[in-house]
Amino acid sequence: MNNKVALVTGITGQDGAYLAQFLLTKGYKVYGTYRRLSTPNFWRLQYLNIFDDVELLPCDLLDSYSIIETLRASKPDEIYNLAAQSFVGASFEQPIASGEITGLGVAKLLEAIRLIVPEARFYQASTSEMYGDNKHSYQDEKTEFVPSSPYAAAKLYAHSMVNIYRQGYGLFASTGILFNHESPLRGIEFVTRKITNAVAKIKLGIEDTLELGNLDAKRDWGFAPEYVEAMWLILQHDKADDFVVATNETHTIQEFVERAFTRVGLNWENHVKINEKFKRPVDVNYLKGNYAKANELLGWTPKTTFAELADIMIDADLERWTNWQNGIHFSWDAWNYPNEKKILSRKLKYD
Ligand code: NDP
Ligand code: GDP
Repeated sequence: MNNKVALVTGITGQDGAYLAQFLLTKGYKVYGTYRRLSTPNFWRLQYLNIFDDVELLPCDLLDSYSIIETLRASKPDEIYNLAAQSFVGASFEQPIASGEITGLGVAKLLEAIRLIVPEARFYQASTSEMYGDNKHSYQDEKTEFVPSSPYAAAKLYAHSMVNIYRQGYGLFASTGILFNHESPLRGIEFVTRKITNAVAKIKLGIEDTLELGNLDAKRDWGFAPEYVEAMWLILQHDKADDFVVATNETHTIQEFVERAFTRVGLNWENHVKINEKFKRPVDVNYLKGNYAKANELLGWTPKTTFAELADIMIDADLERWTNWQNGIHFSWDAWNYPNEKKILSRKLKYD
Protein backbone atom coordinates (compact mmCIF):
# COMPACT_ATOMS: atom_id res chain seq x y z
CA MET A 1 0.00 0.00 0.00
CA ASN A 2 1.14 3.55 -0.62
CA ASN A 3 -1.51 4.84 1.83
CA LYS A 4 -3.08 7.01 -0.86
CA VAL A 5 -6.79 7.00 -1.53
CA ALA A 6 -8.19 7.46 -5.04
CA LEU A 7 -11.79 8.14 -5.98
CA VAL A 8 -12.80 7.18 -9.52
CA THR A 9 -16.17 8.42 -10.71
CA GLY A 10 -17.51 6.27 -13.54
CA ILE A 11 -15.59 3.18 -12.41
CA THR A 12 -18.07 0.96 -14.28
CA GLY A 13 -16.98 2.42 -17.64
CA GLN A 14 -14.07 1.46 -19.89
CA ASP A 15 -11.51 3.90 -18.47
CA GLY A 16 -12.77 3.59 -14.90
CA ALA A 17 -12.15 -0.15 -14.88
CA TYR A 18 -8.66 0.11 -16.39
CA LEU A 19 -7.74 3.04 -14.14
CA ALA A 20 -8.90 1.17 -11.03
CA GLN A 21 -6.79 -1.81 -12.08
CA PHE A 22 -3.77 0.45 -12.63
CA LEU A 23 -4.18 2.28 -9.29
CA LEU A 24 -4.52 -1.02 -7.41
CA THR A 25 -1.17 -2.14 -8.82
CA LYS A 26 0.28 1.13 -7.52
CA GLY A 27 -1.00 0.30 -4.03
CA TYR A 28 -3.88 2.80 -3.83
CA LYS A 29 -7.05 2.21 -1.90
CA VAL A 30 -9.61 2.65 -4.68
CA TYR A 31 -13.15 3.92 -4.27
CA GLY A 32 -15.42 4.02 -7.28
CA THR A 33 -18.84 5.47 -7.87
CA TYR A 34 -21.69 3.62 -9.47
CA ARG A 35 -25.28 4.61 -10.13
CA ARG A 36 -28.31 2.53 -9.60
CA LEU A 37 -29.46 0.91 -12.86
CA SER A 38 -32.30 -1.53 -13.41
CA THR A 39 -29.67 -4.03 -14.55
CA PRO A 40 -26.39 -3.90 -12.59
CA ASN A 41 -23.39 -3.06 -14.72
CA PHE A 42 -20.20 -4.34 -13.10
CA TRP A 43 -19.06 -6.55 -15.97
CA ARG A 44 -15.85 -4.65 -16.70
CA LEU A 45 -14.67 -4.84 -13.08
CA GLN A 46 -15.48 -8.55 -13.12
CA TYR A 47 -13.78 -9.02 -16.48
CA LEU A 48 -10.56 -7.52 -15.05
CA ASN A 49 -11.06 -9.56 -11.88
CA ILE A 50 -10.91 -6.51 -9.59
CA PHE A 51 -14.52 -6.29 -8.45
CA ASP A 52 -13.63 -7.50 -4.93
CA ASP A 53 -10.67 -5.13 -4.65
CA VAL A 54 -12.50 -1.80 -5.02
CA GLU A 55 -14.96 -0.06 -2.69
CA LEU A 56 -18.16 1.03 -4.41
CA LEU A 57 -20.12 4.15 -3.42
CA PRO A 58 -23.49 5.14 -4.87
CA CYS A 59 -23.27 8.51 -6.59
CA ASP A 60 -24.94 10.31 -9.46
CA LEU A 61 -23.44 13.51 -10.86
CA LEU A 62 -26.98 14.84 -11.11
CA ASP A 63 -27.29 14.67 -7.32
CA SER A 64 -25.03 17.07 -5.36
CA TYR A 65 -25.82 15.41 -2.06
CA SER A 66 -24.62 12.04 -3.29
CA ILE A 67 -21.38 13.72 -4.42
CA ILE A 68 -20.93 15.26 -0.97
CA GLU A 69 -21.56 11.91 0.75
CA THR A 70 -19.06 10.25 -1.57
CA LEU A 71 -16.31 12.76 -0.78
CA ARG A 72 -16.99 12.52 2.94
CA ALA A 73 -16.95 8.72 2.91
CA SER A 74 -13.82 8.29 0.79
CA LYS A 75 -11.67 11.29 1.84
CA PRO A 76 -9.67 11.00 -1.38
CA ASP A 77 -6.15 12.26 -2.09
CA GLU A 78 -6.81 12.00 -5.83
CA ILE A 79 -10.12 12.27 -7.66
CA TYR A 80 -10.50 11.08 -11.26
CA ASN A 81 -13.73 12.32 -12.81
CA LEU A 82 -14.50 9.88 -15.60
CA ALA A 83 -18.27 9.88 -15.16
CA ALA A 84 -20.17 11.31 -18.11
CA GLN A 85 -22.83 10.68 -20.68
CA SER A 86 -19.92 9.91 -22.99
CA PHE A 87 -21.48 9.00 -26.33
CA VAL A 88 -21.69 11.76 -28.97
CA GLY A 89 -24.53 10.00 -30.80
CA ALA A 90 -26.70 9.88 -27.67
CA SER A 91 -25.95 13.52 -26.95
CA PHE A 92 -27.86 14.47 -30.11
CA GLU A 93 -30.79 12.37 -28.90
CA GLN A 94 -30.62 13.66 -25.30
CA PRO A 95 -28.86 17.03 -25.36
CA ILE A 96 -30.26 18.27 -22.07
CA ALA A 97 -29.38 15.19 -20.02
CA SER A 98 -25.93 15.19 -21.60
CA GLY A 99 -25.42 18.81 -20.60
CA GLU A 100 -26.62 18.24 -17.07
CA ILE A 101 -24.44 15.16 -16.47
CA THR A 102 -21.34 15.84 -18.55
CA GLY A 103 -21.27 19.61 -18.06
CA LEU A 104 -23.09 20.83 -14.96
CA GLY A 105 -22.24 17.62 -13.09
CA VAL A 106 -18.60 18.68 -13.11
CA ALA A 107 -19.46 22.08 -11.64
CA LYS A 108 -21.30 20.28 -8.82
CA LEU A 109 -18.29 18.08 -8.22
CA LEU A 110 -15.84 21.02 -8.21
CA GLU A 111 -17.97 22.94 -5.74
CA ALA A 112 -18.13 19.94 -3.43
CA ILE A 113 -14.36 19.43 -3.67
CA ARG A 114 -13.76 23.13 -2.90
CA LEU A 115 -15.87 22.85 0.24
CA ILE A 116 -14.95 19.38 1.51
CA VAL A 117 -11.54 18.21 0.20
CA PRO A 118 -9.80 21.30 -1.25
CA GLU A 119 -6.37 19.65 -0.91
CA ALA A 120 -7.31 16.72 -3.14
CA ARG A 121 -5.86 16.53 -6.65
CA PHE A 122 -8.54 16.48 -9.35
CA TYR A 123 -8.43 15.01 -12.85
CA GLN A 124 -11.10 15.86 -15.43
CA ALA A 125 -11.67 13.67 -18.49
CA SER A 126 -11.67 16.29 -21.24
CA THR A 127 -11.88 15.25 -24.86
CA SER A 128 -10.60 15.89 -28.38
CA GLU A 129 -14.27 16.25 -29.37
CA MET A 130 -13.98 19.81 -27.98
CA TYR A 131 -11.96 20.74 -31.11
CA GLY A 132 -15.04 20.01 -33.20
CA ASP A 133 -14.99 19.94 -36.98
CA ASN A 134 -11.72 21.87 -37.13
CA LYS A 135 -9.45 22.45 -40.12
CA HIS A 136 -6.05 22.08 -38.43
CA SER A 137 -3.50 19.46 -39.53
CA TYR A 138 -3.16 18.49 -35.85
CA GLN A 139 -4.55 19.64 -32.50
CA ASP A 140 -2.68 20.46 -29.29
CA GLU A 141 -3.24 22.37 -26.03
CA LYS A 142 -3.21 25.71 -27.88
CA THR A 143 -5.71 24.81 -30.60
CA GLU A 144 -9.06 26.62 -30.24
CA PHE A 145 -12.16 24.66 -29.28
CA VAL A 146 -15.19 24.76 -31.60
CA PRO A 147 -17.45 21.97 -30.32
CA SER A 148 -19.72 20.24 -32.85
CA SER A 149 -22.03 18.23 -30.60
CA PRO A 150 -24.01 18.65 -27.37
CA TYR A 151 -21.50 16.24 -25.78
CA ALA A 152 -18.54 18.36 -26.84
CA ALA A 153 -20.24 21.57 -25.71
CA ALA A 154 -20.88 20.06 -22.27
CA LYS A 155 -17.28 18.84 -22.03
CA LEU A 156 -15.99 22.29 -22.99
CA TYR A 157 -18.08 23.86 -20.23
CA ALA A 158 -16.61 21.34 -17.77
CA HIS A 159 -13.10 21.95 -19.08
CA SER A 160 -13.56 25.71 -18.63
CA MET A 161 -14.85 25.22 -15.09
CA VAL A 162 -11.77 23.20 -14.16
CA ASN A 163 -9.57 26.05 -15.38
CA ILE A 164 -11.67 28.56 -13.44
CA TYR A 165 -11.40 26.54 -10.21
CA ARG A 166 -7.66 26.10 -10.71
CA GLN A 167 -7.10 29.82 -11.17
CA GLY A 168 -9.82 31.16 -8.91
CA TYR A 169 -9.56 28.87 -5.90
CA GLY A 170 -6.11 27.33 -6.27
CA LEU A 171 -7.43 23.78 -6.58
CA PHE A 172 -5.01 21.23 -8.01
CA ALA A 173 -7.37 20.64 -10.92
CA SER A 174 -5.99 19.22 -14.17
CA THR A 175 -7.41 17.98 -17.42
CA GLY A 176 -6.38 15.36 -19.92
CA ILE A 177 -7.59 16.20 -23.42
CA LEU A 178 -7.77 12.60 -24.48
CA PHE A 179 -8.20 11.56 -28.08
CA ASN A 180 -10.27 8.44 -28.79
CA HIS A 181 -9.00 5.39 -26.97
CA GLU A 182 -10.37 1.93 -27.39
CA SER A 183 -10.06 -1.60 -26.01
CA PRO A 184 -12.07 -4.80 -25.64
CA LEU A 185 -13.87 -2.95 -22.79
CA ARG A 186 -15.02 -0.08 -25.04
CA GLY A 187 -18.74 0.70 -24.96
CA ILE A 188 -20.49 -1.27 -27.68
CA GLU A 189 -22.07 1.75 -29.41
CA PHE A 190 -18.70 3.32 -30.25
CA VAL A 191 -17.65 2.66 -33.80
CA THR A 192 -14.53 0.52 -33.17
CA ARG A 193 -16.23 -1.89 -30.80
CA LYS A 194 -19.41 -1.89 -32.89
CA ILE A 195 -17.25 -3.02 -35.80
CA THR A 196 -15.23 -5.68 -33.95
CA ASN A 197 -18.33 -7.10 -32.27
CA ALA A 198 -20.18 -7.31 -35.60
CA VAL A 199 -17.19 -8.75 -37.48
CA ALA A 200 -16.86 -11.52 -34.89
CA LYS A 201 -20.58 -12.34 -35.23
CA ILE A 202 -20.37 -12.30 -39.04
CA LYS A 203 -17.32 -14.57 -38.99
CA LEU A 204 -19.17 -17.07 -36.79
CA GLY A 205 -22.34 -16.95 -38.90
CA ILE A 206 -24.48 -15.24 -36.23
CA GLU A 207 -25.05 -12.14 -38.38
CA ASP A 208 -24.47 -11.13 -41.98
CA THR A 209 -24.34 -7.35 -42.22
CA LEU A 210 -22.92 -4.36 -40.40
CA GLU A 211 -24.61 -0.97 -40.81
CA LEU A 212 -22.51 2.14 -40.35
CA GLY A 213 -22.70 5.88 -41.03
CA ASN A 214 -19.82 8.15 -42.05
CA LEU A 215 -16.84 6.00 -43.09
CA ASP A 216 -14.67 8.96 -44.09
CA ALA A 217 -14.23 10.55 -40.66
CA LYS A 218 -10.71 10.27 -39.29
CA ARG A 219 -9.80 9.50 -35.70
CA ASP A 220 -6.61 9.35 -33.65
CA TRP A 221 -7.15 6.02 -31.88
CA GLY A 222 -5.02 4.77 -28.97
CA PHE A 223 -5.16 1.87 -26.51
CA ALA A 224 -7.13 2.66 -23.33
CA PRO A 225 -4.84 1.00 -20.72
CA GLU A 226 -2.01 3.31 -21.83
CA TYR A 227 -4.28 6.36 -21.56
CA VAL A 228 -5.27 5.72 -17.95
CA GLU A 229 -1.59 5.73 -17.04
CA ALA A 230 -1.41 9.23 -18.55
CA MET A 231 -4.27 10.31 -16.25
CA TRP A 232 -2.26 9.17 -13.25
CA LEU A 233 0.91 10.90 -14.50
CA ILE A 234 -1.05 14.13 -14.93
CA LEU A 235 -1.93 14.10 -11.23
CA GLN A 236 1.65 13.24 -10.19
CA HIS A 237 3.01 16.30 -12.06
CA ASP A 238 4.20 19.17 -9.85
CA LYS A 239 1.58 21.60 -11.12
CA ALA A 240 -1.98 21.39 -12.33
CA ASP A 241 -2.24 21.78 -16.10
CA ASP A 242 -3.94 20.62 -19.34
CA PHE A 243 -2.41 17.82 -21.42
CA VAL A 244 -3.21 16.33 -24.82
CA VAL A 245 -2.98 12.53 -24.83
CA ALA A 246 -2.98 11.02 -28.33
CA THR A 247 -0.94 9.00 -30.84
CA ASN A 248 -0.27 11.66 -33.51
CA GLU A 249 -1.65 9.26 -36.14
CA THR A 250 -5.01 9.36 -37.83
CA HIS A 251 -7.06 6.77 -39.74
CA THR A 252 -10.49 6.68 -41.38
CA ILE A 253 -13.35 4.56 -40.07
CA GLN A 254 -13.09 2.62 -43.34
CA GLU A 255 -9.46 1.72 -42.58
CA PHE A 256 -10.57 0.28 -39.23
CA VAL A 257 -13.34 -1.67 -40.97
CA GLU A 258 -10.89 -3.05 -43.55
CA ARG A 259 -8.40 -4.08 -40.87
CA ALA A 260 -11.07 -5.87 -38.79
CA PHE A 261 -12.54 -7.83 -41.71
CA THR A 262 -9.09 -8.71 -43.08
CA ARG A 263 -8.11 -10.08 -39.66
CA VAL A 264 -10.82 -12.74 -39.96
CA GLY A 265 -10.28 -13.36 -43.69
CA LEU A 266 -13.42 -11.61 -44.99
CA ASN A 267 -14.03 -8.85 -47.56
CA TRP A 268 -15.70 -5.90 -45.84
CA GLU A 269 -17.50 -4.78 -48.99
CA ASN A 270 -19.63 -7.94 -48.92
CA HIS A 271 -20.99 -7.11 -45.46
CA VAL A 272 -21.01 -3.35 -44.75
CA LYS A 273 -24.04 -1.19 -45.58
CA ILE A 274 -24.42 2.54 -45.07
CA ASN A 275 -27.45 3.58 -43.04
CA GLU A 276 -28.20 7.30 -42.84
CA LYS A 277 -29.43 6.89 -39.28
CA PHE A 278 -25.84 6.44 -38.10
CA LYS A 279 -24.75 9.77 -39.61
CA ARG A 280 -24.73 12.68 -37.18
CA PRO A 281 -26.31 16.10 -37.75
CA VAL A 282 -22.77 17.50 -37.46
CA ASP A 283 -19.70 15.29 -37.39
CA VAL A 284 -16.08 15.80 -36.44
CA ASN A 285 -14.22 14.80 -39.57
CA TYR A 286 -10.58 15.01 -38.58
CA LEU A 287 -8.69 14.47 -35.33
CA LYS A 288 -4.95 14.02 -34.92
CA GLY A 289 -3.39 14.92 -31.59
CA ASN A 290 0.07 16.27 -30.87
CA TYR A 291 1.08 14.85 -27.48
CA ALA A 292 4.52 16.55 -27.36
CA LYS A 293 3.74 18.31 -24.05
CA ALA A 294 2.71 15.08 -22.29
CA ASN A 295 5.82 13.44 -23.68
CA GLU A 296 8.13 16.21 -22.52
CA LEU A 297 6.66 16.91 -19.07
CA LEU A 298 5.22 13.52 -18.11
CA GLY A 299 7.44 11.14 -20.08
CA TRP A 300 4.29 9.59 -21.59
CA THR A 301 4.27 7.99 -25.02
CA PRO A 302 1.76 5.70 -26.79
CA LYS A 303 2.91 2.17 -27.59
CA THR A 304 0.17 0.14 -29.27
CA THR A 305 -0.17 0.79 -33.01
CA PHE A 306 -3.42 1.22 -34.93
CA ALA A 307 -3.17 -2.27 -36.45
CA GLU A 308 -2.34 -3.88 -33.10
CA LEU A 309 -5.28 -2.13 -31.46
CA ALA A 310 -7.74 -3.36 -34.09
CA ASP A 311 -6.34 -6.89 -33.78
CA ILE A 312 -6.58 -6.89 -29.95
CA MET A 313 -10.24 -5.87 -30.19
CA ILE A 314 -11.26 -8.26 -32.95
CA ASP A 315 -9.47 -11.18 -31.29
CA ALA A 316 -11.21 -10.48 -27.97
CA ASP A 317 -14.68 -10.29 -29.54
CA LEU A 318 -14.09 -13.41 -31.60
CA GLU A 319 -13.01 -15.31 -28.51
CA ARG A 320 -16.04 -14.09 -26.55
CA TRP A 321 -18.57 -15.07 -29.22
CA THR A 322 -16.84 -18.42 -29.66
CA ASN A 323 -17.06 -19.05 -25.92
CA TRP A 324 -20.68 -17.94 -25.94
CA GLN A 325 -21.49 -20.39 -28.74
CA ASN A 326 -19.81 -23.10 -26.68
CA GLY A 327 -22.01 -22.33 -23.67
CA ILE A 328 -19.24 -20.84 -21.55
CA HIS A 329 -20.59 -18.20 -19.12
CA PHE A 330 -18.71 -15.02 -18.33
CA SER A 331 -19.39 -11.36 -17.57
CA TRP A 332 -19.88 -9.46 -20.81
CA ASP A 333 -22.02 -6.82 -22.50
CA ALA A 334 -22.63 -7.93 -26.10
CA TRP A 335 -24.74 -11.04 -25.72
CA ASN A 336 -27.79 -9.14 -24.48
CA TYR A 337 -27.32 -6.00 -26.57
CA PRO A 338 -30.06 -5.69 -29.19
CA ASN A 339 -29.14 -5.29 -32.80
CA GLU A 340 -29.06 -1.53 -33.41
CA LYS A 341 -31.49 -2.00 -36.30
CA LYS A 342 -34.22 -2.21 -33.63
CA ILE A 343 -33.33 1.17 -32.19
CA LEU A 344 -35.14 4.08 -33.80
CA SER A 345 -33.59 7.47 -34.19
CA ARG A 346 -35.29 10.81 -34.07
CA LYS A 347 -33.50 11.56 -37.32
CA LEU A 348 -35.65 8.99 -39.11
CA LYS A 349 -38.87 10.13 -40.72
CA TYR A 350 -41.67 8.31 -38.89
CA ASP A 351 -44.58 9.02 -41.24
P1 NDP B 1 -17.93 5.12 -20.51
O1 NDP B 1 -19.15 5.57 -21.20
O2 NDP B 1 -17.43 3.73 -20.71
O3 NDP B 1 -18.10 5.34 -18.93
C1 NDP B 1 -18.79 6.45 -18.44
C2 NDP B 1 -19.03 6.27 -16.95
O4 NDP B 1 -19.81 7.37 -16.46
C3 NDP B 1 -19.81 5.00 -16.59
O5 NDP B 1 -19.26 4.44 -15.42
C4 NDP B 1 -21.20 5.54 -16.32
O6 NDP B 1 -21.96 4.74 -15.45
C5 NDP B 1 -20.87 6.85 -15.67
N1 NDP B 1 -22.00 7.77 -15.63
C6 NDP B 1 -22.85 8.08 -16.64
N2 NDP B 1 -23.78 8.96 -16.22
C7 NDP B 1 -23.52 9.20 -14.91
C8 NDP B 1 -24.14 10.00 -13.92
N3 NDP B 1 -25.23 10.73 -14.16
N4 NDP B 1 -23.61 10.01 -12.67
C9 NDP B 1 -22.52 9.25 -12.39
N5 NDP B 1 -21.90 8.46 -13.27
C10 NDP B 1 -22.39 8.44 -14.53
O7 NDP B 1 -16.76 6.16 -20.90
P2 NDP B 1 -15.18 5.92 -21.03
O8 NDP B 1 -14.73 5.08 -19.92
O9 NDP B 1 -14.89 5.55 -22.42
O10 NDP B 1 -14.65 7.41 -20.85
C11 NDP B 1 -14.33 7.92 -19.55
C12 NDP B 1 -14.41 9.44 -19.58
O11 NDP B 1 -13.48 9.95 -20.54
C13 NDP B 1 -15.77 9.99 -19.98
O12 NDP B 1 -15.97 11.18 -19.27
C14 NDP B 1 -15.61 10.28 -21.47
O13 NDP B 1 -16.50 11.28 -21.89
C15 NDP B 1 -14.17 10.74 -21.50
N6 NDP B 1 -13.47 10.54 -22.75
C16 NDP B 1 -13.43 9.31 -23.31
C17 NDP B 1 -12.74 9.11 -24.48
C18 NDP B 1 -12.66 7.74 -25.09
O14 NDP B 1 -12.19 7.65 -26.24
N7 NDP B 1 -13.04 6.68 -24.39
C19 NDP B 1 -12.03 10.21 -25.15
C20 NDP B 1 -12.04 11.45 -24.40
C21 NDP B 1 -12.75 11.60 -23.25
P3 NDP B 1 -22.91 3.54 -16.00
O15 NDP B 1 -22.00 2.36 -16.17
O16 NDP B 1 -23.88 3.40 -14.89
O17 NDP B 1 -23.51 3.99 -17.28
P1 GDP C 1 -16.57 9.77 -31.12
O1 GDP C 1 -15.34 10.22 -31.82
O2 GDP C 1 -16.51 9.99 -29.64
O3 GDP C 1 -17.82 10.30 -31.70
O4 GDP C 1 -16.55 8.17 -31.26
P2 GDP C 1 -17.46 7.15 -32.10
O5 GDP C 1 -16.72 5.87 -32.09
O6 GDP C 1 -18.86 7.15 -31.61
O7 GDP C 1 -17.48 7.77 -33.57
C1 GDP C 1 -16.29 7.95 -34.30
C2 GDP C 1 -16.64 8.31 -35.75
O8 GDP C 1 -17.22 7.18 -36.37
C3 GDP C 1 -17.63 9.45 -35.91
O9 GDP C 1 -17.18 10.32 -36.93
C4 GDP C 1 -18.90 8.76 -36.37
O10 GDP C 1 -19.74 9.56 -37.22
C5 GDP C 1 -18.31 7.61 -37.17
N1 GDP C 1 -19.25 6.50 -37.39
C6 GDP C 1 -19.61 5.97 -38.59
N2 GDP C 1 -20.54 5.03 -38.44
C7 GDP C 1 -20.78 4.93 -37.09
C8 GDP C 1 -21.65 4.12 -36.32
O11 GDP C 1 -22.40 3.29 -36.84
N3 GDP C 1 -21.62 4.30 -34.96
C9 GDP C 1 -20.78 5.21 -34.37
N4 GDP C 1 -20.76 5.31 -33.04
N5 GDP C 1 -19.97 6.02 -35.09
C10 GDP C 1 -19.97 5.88 -36.44
